[in-house]
Amino acid sequence: MTSTASNLLDGKALAASIRAELAQRIASLAAAGRPQPGLATVLVGDDPASHVYVRNKRRACDEVGMANFHVELPADAGQAAVLAEVQRLNQDPRVHGILVQLPLPKNAGYDENEVLAAIDPAKDADGFHPLNQGALMQGRPAPVPCTPKGVMRLIDHSGMKLKGCNAVVVGRSNIVGKPLALLLLARHCTVTLCHSRTTDLAAEIGRGDVVVAAVGVAQLVKGAWIKPGAVVIDVGINRNQAGKLVGDVEFEAAQPRAGWITPVPGGVGPMTIAMLLENTLENLS
Ligand code: NDP
Repeated sequence: MTSTASNLLDGKALAASIRAELAQRIASLAAAGRPQPGLATVLVGDDPASHVYVRNKRRACDEVGMANFHVELPADAGQAAVLAEVQRLNQDPRVHGILVQLPLPKNAGYDENEVLAAIDPAKDADGFHPLNQGALMQGRPAPVPCTPKGVMRLIDHSGMKLKGCNAVVVGRSNIVGKPLALLLLARHCTVTLCHSRTTDLAAEIGRGDVVVAAVGVAQLVKGAWIKPGAVVIDVGINRNQAGKLVGDVEFEAAQPRAGWITPVPGGVGPMTIAMLLENTLENLS
């Protein structure tokens, strides 16, 4: 497929339509006398990016009619204080989803894995609890991590038939790359999972009918590597030298070769938030 603006996979628009659908479902619950779904957000420290992410998530709650219970702790609150908040939210019947914004402050002695494991798996909004990650591996129903779930929705929105496709994921984090590889595998893709020790990234990407970049290195994936017609999903959020927000894919060069491609911003980011709301609502059902 050749370059046109119409090969943009617009995550902002898709997320808006999902939020509208969620708002309707929440209104129907209210009409039926069912409880209002509630998301708890826990923010530790003063990392500016984390504050922006949490603010956007809270705004999205308001927009769809979901309750938000927000907890803010200082960077030096300590592991015990964070665990105590999580336990309190686990017990709160108004809360159906709990999100602890990561990363927790560095060099402050936090154990993120212990915090994630302390969340009631039935209230896990992010799908990071080890039981839910295990369920994903075994193909059992459970909350699915929001970013990979949003990526799958974007791929489906492109119309790409996944069965039998070569899918190449770059990045193997527990929150994006690894769960995404499992989701693609469950949809019968042949999955290649690349990382910093991959010897020939260009060759691996060149085989991808679907390419997902989740690295955090500005424009690492060159446009010339993209197989013509591939669906390209850019998860990365980086600032280039001019201070502009860019993804992990060299967008201008990749767009003419791609069948479909997500922009940064306006691609995966809004979908992540929509999936967070959806996970919380599904925990209530
Ligand atoms: P991590 O830092 O946890 O993981 C990065 C991965 O990229 C690692 O697996 C690493 O390999 C791999 N990597 C690093 N350098 C290279 C390289 N040169 N070639 C190939 N692979 C490489 O990041 P996250 O998964 O948390 O996030 C990735 C990006 O996505 C970030 O930019 C983040 O901001 C963004 N993000 C966006 C979200 C959204 O909603 N839009 C949500 C979550 C993340 P190794 O394992 O070998 O170290």
